[in-house]
Amino acid sequence: MSRTPAPDAETDLGRKRRARRMGRVLAETHPDAHCELDHDGPLQLAVATILSAQTTDKRVNEVTPKLFARYRTAADYAGADRAEMEELLRPTGFFRNKTTSLINLGRTLVERYDGRVPGKLTELVTLPGIGRKTANVVLGNAFDVPGITVDTHFQRLVRRWNWTTETDPVKIEYVVGALFEKREWTMLSHRVIFHGRRVCHARKPACGACTLAPLCPSYGLGPTDAPSAAKLLKGPRARELAIQAGVDPALVPATAVTAEAP
Ligand code: SF4
Repeated sequence: MSRTPAPDAETDLGRKRRARRMGRVLAETHPDAHCELDHDGPLQLAVATILSAQTTDKRVNEVTPKLFARYRTAADYAGADRAEMEELLRPTGFFRNKTTSLINLGRTLVERYDGRVPGKLTELVTLPGIGRKTANVVLGNAFDVPGITVDTHFQRLVRRWNWTTETDPVKIEYVVGALFEKREWTMLSHRVIFHGRRVCHARKPACGACTLAPLCPSYGLGPTDAPSAAKLLKGPRARELAIQAGVDPALVPATAVTAEAP
């Protein structure tokens, strides 16, 4: 099914055109793509992104309503009672480290930024607990500044698609950034991550039920027959995803539709 040229036979222009075609297919495939961490404003998003390390967005979203109700400002985090915050964060794992990060984040924001989260990458990456990935999430989704989020899904997929062979997240960010218009970066990131969570899984990608199959050099990495591939689709739109890929939606089991996207 794949009509993609071998990686070393593809020109830079050919790769850019193919990447942009894939970007358009991703937009049609995942019209619901969005930041999956519930938040209201930059501080809540920075906090939720710090908490998302080593756990699922769903788990973070279960914890944050109570957390956000208890701690409303940077000063609230700075002055938090450690034991109380640790209890709230316990379900997200690594809760002691995460508590330290949030208290230090609050302190730094109060001391250096008048309690506000700054809207510049260079400043965001100096904050405790905030690396480049978190900074780009915050910029793209809370400040409307285009950013590419290179998380584990993004890294896996863009390499499978031969958009880049880089392994370093910062280099990946630059290479992929050059393939697309800047204004598309934030939504592209969401769509790639959605595809990684719902279709192109780490162990068994659903190649036989994937809208990107004709453009993907890794087609065949997972099962290509419709019945096997349809079972691998995940999320509330799993049946629509099957239809978009030309697969009978009846092949998608009910469990796939209710399954939590990883
Ligand atoms: S599921 Fe298969 S065909 Fe689709 S993007 Fe992933 S590797 Fe390519």
